[in-house]
Amino acid sequence: MLNFYLNENLQKIKANILSACSRANRNPDEIILLGVTKTIEPQIINEAINLGIFNIGESRVQEFNSKYPILDKKANLHFIGKLQTNKVKYIVDKVSLIHSVDSLNLANEINKRARMINKKVNILLQINISKEPTKNGIFVEEVDEFIKQIPNFSNLNLQGLMTIAPFVENPQENREYFKNMKKIFVDIKSKNKDNINMKYISMGMSNDYEVAIEEGANIIRIGNALFKSTK
Ligand SMILES: *Cc1c(COP(=O)(O)O)cnc(C)c1O
Repeated sequence: MLNFYLNENLQKIKANILSACSRANRNPDEIILLGVTKTIEPQIINEAINLGIFNIGESRVQEFNSKYPILDKKANLHFIGKLQTNKVKYIVDKVSLIHSVDSLNLANEINKRARMINKKVNILLQINISKEPTKNGIFVEEVDEFIKQIPNFSNLNLQGLMTIAPFVENPQENREYFKNMKKIFVDIKSKNKDNINMKYISMGMSNDYEVAIEEGANIIRIGNALFKSTK
């Protein structure tokens, strides 16, 4: 069951990553291409993994869990969707990184569940950088308070930031948001606190990943551009 479009799409994305990196003077090896696989069949996901996409992102707990037994475990599995506190227990033992931590309450629950299984769980703080009412994430003004509490959560490892930029016709419109994310990232990194090891800026999707890379993203989350057949 070979999907020739998958490899074709991948080669196009890789070429775009290369040119964005060369425009921004960045090393393309720093960029993690996360395949976003909501609604995609596990067999197709495994094909993507075989093509070298070793980071896979799911956004619904139930879907994640039903695919989990089938997915090739040589990939890192990320959780990127809205996470209810009462569902943390179903994924905490399976994920390599949770991108969508958007409250202290959720951070507290992940910490508690992580402690019960004796694990340190990697998380990103999701920021609603554009303040769109339909988007999850904390506002920039709330970041300091969140960061202040992380040293209390000894089973968490805060590794960076995530945002979902607005859906826009022209991706250049999101450039300022991506720039702001980078600033916040650098600011937190300079603080040197316990349980905080800033490594990742997860931003940029099918529509705007090249601009995101130019502004400092090192995880781009790609769904449609990878998995959608253009035929
Ligand atoms: C669906 C989704 C993506 C991928 O979006 P595309 O436009 O298909 O690339 C990225 N991040 C999150 C959080 C998503 O839910």
